[in-house]
Amino acid sequence: MNLIEPTAAEMRHLERAVDLAAEALRAGDEPFGSVLVGADGQVLAEDRNRVHTLADRTRHPEFELVRWATAHLTERQRAEATVYTSGEHCPMCAAAHGWAGLGRIVYAHSAAQLTDWLAELGVPASPVRCLPIQEVVPGLEVQGPVPALADRLRGLHVGFHTGRSAKGQSPGS
Ligand SMILES: [Zn+2]
Repeated sequence: MNLIEPTAAEMRHLERAVDLAAEALRAGDEPFGSVLVGADGQVLAEDRNRVHTLADRTRHPEFELVRWATAHLTERQRAEATVYTSGEHCPMCAAAHGWAGLGRIVYAHSAAQLTDWLAELGVPASPVRCLPIQEVVPGLEVQGPVPALADRLRGLHVGFHTGRSAKGQSPGS
């Protein structure tokens, strides 16, 4: 884990990922969102968690971005792309990211932070263990967490697991 001070451009992408996580929560899905950005800084694709609305526990946004990238980008474009994501990739998504040869990952909250937040809430452990991305994809450049975003993200996860959803909360609030 290496705390980072994102640049203004990086922060915009991270805030968009967090807004997508809030959108997921409002829809009844788990609060996770991700943005795929090309080498030139242009947003290429984005998605949010859809595990409940699509009744498929593998519909994580990080995995959807891998699918998009393998369909639309060359090997070099994938390697030069960055994924900004509200939460550190789970092992499934980290492995898919690694197999697809995607580039850097910048996450707002770590898997370890999420594990702590869920333990505080008494949420049962998930069937898949949380691991740092680099334990799954050792050669990958990974940056995070971003302390400035932690409170908002913790609030989204508390909302999801306590039913105090952020329905009244507008993106960016
Ligand atoms: Zn995942």
